[in-house]
Amino acid sequence: MERKEIVWEKSCRRCHKKLPLSQFPTRKHKKDGHSSVCKGCSHSRKKEQYKVNSELKKKYNHTYREHNKEKCKFLTREYMHKTRWMALTKIAEVHHIGSPSCMVCGFTDARSLQIDHVNGGGTSQLRKMGSYKFYRYILDSSPKLIRDNYQILCANCNMIKKEEERENYIWRERN
Ligand SMILES: [Zn+2]
Ligand SMILES: [Zn+2]
Repeated sequence: MERKEIVWEKSCRRCHKKLPLSQFPTRKHKKDGHSSVCKGCSHSRKKEQYKVNSELKKKYNHTYREHNKEKCKFLTREYMHKTRWMALTKIAEVHHIGSPSCMVCGFTDARSLQIDHVNGGGTSQLRKMGSYKFYRYILDSSPKLIRDNYQILCANCNMIKKEEERENYIWRERN
């Protein structure tokens, strides 16, 4: 028994400690059926590899996400911009005013143009739906529904309308 203990002992290739064979993980393809690296060493090596790998993975995922986030944001912004412009164009067409412009003062810079609900409540509708869904809703609505309910106002006129008319419709008064 004692002799066997001495025979079944080898030194680890990594830590160079002399250890009993049972301290080496089994490897079928090896001559003695055991790894040349002891259990302790192979464990810490795995741990190190795992750490390096997971750090690399984390780094990669982070850059990927960052990269894609910008891409997604940009696409969404552009798509939203287009959808908004399409909704404004549709309202302008329905009211026969040509290209989108404020129906009170004629202001044309689209950055300041807003879709106004004729009878008020437009803001809460927009808030409930979210801008994108609201624009889609406009695009899916019939010309009559749009003519009766929506107009284009610039931010100034919309503000003034809300202040002075208490959301009474300026455009309707004119017609
Ligand atoms: Zn070792
Ligand atoms: Zn205006």
